Amino acid sequence: MTKYTYLYAWEIIISNNIESKFIWLSNIHAIMPAMKGEETLSIHEHEYFDPASGSFKVPIYLAAMFEQLGEPRKSDRGVDLKYSREENPTTRALEKIIARLEGGDDALAFNSGMAAIAAVYMEYLEVGAEVIIPMEAYSTSIQLAETLSKFGVKVVKPWPSTERIAEAIHPGTRLVLVETITNPMLRVLDAEELAKRCREVGATLVVDNTFATPLAFKPLKAGAHISLNSATKYLAGHNDVLAGTISGDCETIAGKLWDWRRRLGSILQPFDAFLVIRGLKTFPLRFRRQCATAQAIAEFLEDHPKVEEVRYPGLKSHESHALARKLLKGLYGGVVTFKVKGGREEAFKVLRGVKIIKPSPSLGGVESLLAYPVLSAAKLIPPEDRAALGITDNTLRLSVGLEDLEDLKSDLDNALRE
Ligand code: PLP
Repeated sequence: MTKYTYLYAWEIIISNNIESKFIWLSNIHAIMPAMKGEETLSIHEHEYFDPASGSFKVPIYLAAMFEQLGEPRKSDRGVDLKYSREENPTTRALEKIIARLEGGDDALAFNSGMAAIAAVYMEYLEVGAEVIIPMEAYSTSIQLAETLSKFGVKVVKPWPSTERIAEAIHPGTRLVLVETITNPMLRVLDAEELAKRCREVGATLVVDNTFATPLAFKPLKAGAHISLNSATKYLAGHNDVLAGTISGDCETIAGKLWDWRRRLGSILQPFDAFLVIRGLKTFPLRFRRQCATAQAIAEFLEDHPKVEEVRYPGLKSHESHALARKLLKGLYGGVVTFKVKGGREEAFKVLRGVKIIKPSPSLGGVESLLAYPVLSAAKLIPPEDRAALGITDNTLRLSVGLEDLEDLKSDLDNALRE
């Protein structure tokens, strides 16, 4: 007998006491000291232990289906565990970590950030429903909502400031989707203020927290109904997997959105879930270091003779700096946006000139990436909106990875001076 066997394991309970090889601890806190630190949670919160082998590493359940003797087994959150489009134990282990990091009751993992957003739209939007998404947001999130206009959904796109979004919210608003730090100009929005306004009028607030991560900001604690991440970015962190997560209360997650994921077939696959679980073990460490390096690079670029403007919420010169200081616990993110002196050709020269930094879209991984927003994240934003937002032809967006600061600085310096 190990010290673990006195604990009930949900597989044993729900399989009518059929001996189970693997044990998912129903209450790991009964045997573990209380875990508060996010580094500790990121490593241990999956709650998995296999007493048969003594393994505490989550296995990859590459299984399309599970035993069903009449009534299906239930997973720990009371949903069917019989078919991997619905529920998979590896994916479930990831969701436990995410829910705890987010401070939510429950979480769901999807096969991309967009799949998570699609499920949210399915639940909250219907004929005549109005969704508010600021004009600066991940352009595919805007585009998907606009595509739903053929089903009678109305999209309102206010200027990306807390005040202007709050003004746009009214009793007819069904859903509000905002990013904590906008992409690519890195404006910071106050989810707490927006949550108050949404709750006054009965609207649902979804915060896409991809750029801030639950380490810098916790949307659910600020009053948002759903916190959403493209886990492709910092959570997984290695630029090798696509994933999305949502967190919230049990009624929203297990009650409403679980079923949309089942119907849409957009659950995160077990191997990919394993990669995200593995990535999460170093997420706090990586993100803190990426923020520190990004701050140093932003300061370096601000003094660079070939740079016209730098946008980083950790810089005093950024219009959101005061709000960022209030909300983001000194973690201003790992993305720095800057404008080179000149136009598109000069920006392309830098893209072609970097050697360590890879010219590529996306962000949040170990490799530093340099993106050209006009042709990537902001490509689908109408040109007139892009111009108003300041996303110009000489704008570049750097996602800072884990390389040495001095190497990154000299790579950028060489490319800028070429
Ligand atoms: N939200 C933000 C802020 C993003 O930047 C992205 C992708 O870049 C997404 C959502 C979509 O996530 P995914 O690419 O994982 O589908």
